[in-house]
Amino acid sequence: MAAEIHELNRALEAFDQRNTPEGLLLRYARGRLRHFFARQSLSLFGALILAFTVSPLIGLAALSVSLFGELLDTYVLRRVKKQLQRGVSVKQVQYKTTVTAFAQAFGLSAFVAILWLAIPREAALLLCLAYLAAGAVNAVMALPFHRRAAVARLLVYGSTVVGLFIADFFVLHYQREQFFYNVAATLMVAYTMLPFVSYVTTGRLRDLRQQRRQIEQGLELAKANASLQERQREGRRLSSIAENAVDSIMMLDAQANTLWVNPAFTRKTGYKLSEVVGKHPTQYLHGLRSDPATLRRFTQAIKDGVAAHGENVNYTKIGAAFWVETNLSPVFDDRGNLEMVVCVDRDITLKKQREAELAEAKRAAEMGERAKTAFLATMSHEIRTPMNGIIGMSDLLSDAKLSSEEALYVQTIRHSSEALLTIINDILDFSKLQDGHLKISSIAFELQPCLDEVVNLMRPQAAAKGIPLIIETADNLPRTVWGDDGRLRQILVNVIGNAIKFTETGNVTVQVGTVKEGPDHGLEISVTDTGIGIAPDRIEHVFDQFAQADAATTRRFGGTGLGLAISRQLARMMGGDVIATSAVNVGSCFVIQVDFPSVNLPAKRVTDPDVMPDPTVFDGKTVLLAEDNRTNRFLVQKLLKDLPLTLVTAVNGKEAVEMVKEYQPEIVLMDMSMPVMDGLDATRFIRHQMSNQPHIIALTANAYRSDRQACLEAGMNGFLPKPVRRAELLRAIAHGLESRTTAARIG
Ligand code: ADP
Repeated sequence: MAAEIHELNRALEAFDQRNTPEGLLLRYARGRLRHFFARQSLSLFGALILAFTVSPLIGLAALSVSLFGELLDTYVLRRVKKQLQRGVSVKQVQYKTTVTAFAQAFGLSAFVAILWLAIPREAALLLCLAYLAAGAVNAVMALPFHRRAAVARLLVYGSTVVGLFIADFFVLHYQREQFFYNVAATLMVAYTMLPFVSYVTTGRLRDLRQQRRQIEQGLELAKANASLQERQREGRRLSSIAENAVDSIMMLDAQANTLWVNPAFTRKTGYKLSEVVGKHPTQYLHGLRSDPATLRRFTQAIKDGVAAHGENVNYTKIGAAFWVETNLSPVFDDRGNLEMVVCVDRDITLKKQREAELAEAKRAAEMGERAKTAFLATMSHEIRTPMNGIIGMSDLLSDAKLSSEEALYVQTIRHSSEALLTIINDILDFSKLQDGHLKISSIAFELQPCLDEVVNLMRPQAAAKGIPLIIETADNLPRTVWGDDGRLRQILVNVIGNAIKFTETGNVTVQVGTVKEGPDHGLEISVTDTGIGIAPDRIEHVFDQFAQADAATTRRFGGTGLGLAISRQLARMMGGDVIATSAVNVGSCFVIQVDFPSVNLPAKRVTDPDVMPDPTVFDGKTVLLAEDNRTNRFLVQKLLKDLPLTLVTAVNGKEAVEMVKEYQPEIVLMDMSMPVMDGLDATRFIRHQMSNQPHIIALTANAYRSDRQACLEAGMNGFLPKPVRRAELLRAIAHGLESRTTAARIG
């Protein structure tokens, strides 16, 4: 079919080519050349008549004049094709060939004139007219191809006839009575040629149009056939796709009634085509679990003739539910009316199951995560409570008069319990970091006192090993910076602690400076030691959770392997990092970078944890301690023993409320978790039901930020996490008393 279209296209092209001015000119030249010998044989015939009847010389003369014109014309016509190829314009070639046509016609006319004059007029008239008529017919035939040449020839022949008659009549005075008959006869011949001329000009044109139309129609027909065949092929392809598709395919009419279903539909649902044809899908495909909103959306889409997509539950013939992903596509006829709707259903039951399993797994993981957090919180609380006792008691013991050996025992208890507390804090921090619960809270604080505080805290540890702890600060260090001082302290304690821990001889140097890269002033603190160092292949692993440089380290130096993991994460949360370089047996350098810009704001006052308030502020005051744990009650009693205040105790929240009523204390130290009524409920009761409003300080082993928040929301004024140190407790009470006095003064 494609070959036929190609052939017809070429035919049309060739047809058009043949009928361009250039094509016509070429055809004119070819026609004239083809009939050259036929024309010359006629001239030869006339010349022979002349040679026999008049004289051979006359015959030769007549043949010569005719042949001269013919040869000139033929010479030019033979060169037409070449000239056109060489780029000579069609117009120019037409002009040249008109001139030679003129010469050729003139030759023939001369030939006829010789005949006319040489042989007797009765015989010559018909012969001459026949020659001229033949020439005229020839010229007319060429009219459609070369109008100018044809007209030139006709003019020459016409003028020849007229010329000869005029010569006869006026010059030769030949038989005048016959003249009119001859003119009449000649005019009749000319008249009878008119329809022929009209056919050749207009008729031929009509024929040409007809021919072209025929080729065109043939082409259109071939194209229509080809497109029909293509459509048939496509139809066969589509139907075979639908037949063999894995997805269920339904064809619905404009009212959504079923027209056709594919074998996959039957395999999936159990319905044969005959069982569903003409029915609405809701009559056989949908059930209780199918979503009515989705079905309404589909119905509306069919009504509006638009595509729709959705997921829903379908049912098989035996009532088994399965999930499908449905795609509805409208199909329109040539006039744009909705013809049918193609509905493709893909079974997504497995995908849905997997989604449900995934959601369940996520829920379980979240529950596990919550359980872990709750467990850690409980564990931390449960360990902190007895630790409070141990640390508090050893604090008290160290103040007592002890022998040097006993003092060493107490010291050991203190250090061990503080190490244990660090581990608990690390685990708690690490779990908070993992859950994303750990927050950085920035404030404006003074940098130098903060650094001094950490170094002073670590100094005894270094001194115990005989290692100097040196701090070098840059001159341009900002006075006040914006950041989380507590977290910076935590990182420094850990890194400096490690440096001391892993160094036997030499020193530990802390260098503090600023880096001016980027828009903010970053702080850079490097801690360099001359200790055991870290092997190159382990250096990055020391930042992994629970990782240590080698297993022997754990045994020799102790530790959990959490400190650096926490420090790095904290530093990163503060816009920096912790980077380590080290050489085995030479030493290590840990660089702490934090993004603490310098600020010009009033800074937080850093108080020495061991500074005690003036005891006179407690004079005559009453403090209520609500605490269920006997040891902790005993401890607080001992911590406040020498102060000029009255301490009363309650063992649960309910008792605390009653004692607030009875003793009207200025300060309440409230444990959070207590039997009967917990600290939060007791606080709420006091705040809402009582006229006397004490300053309430939470004293609790619950160390989460959320716990602090809960305490403040319940109406407490302060928060002291256990284990509590004596100085902190006294300061908190003093602060409470002070703020009460201020409030009373303002009130
Ligand atoms: P911990 O010190 O509790 O084991 P860290 O996370 O603080 O946990 O440190 C991880 C490990 O990195 C240490 O166990 C030790 O092997 C190595 N490390 C840390 N600091 C140093 C140091 N200054 N010199 C040598 N090794 C160190």
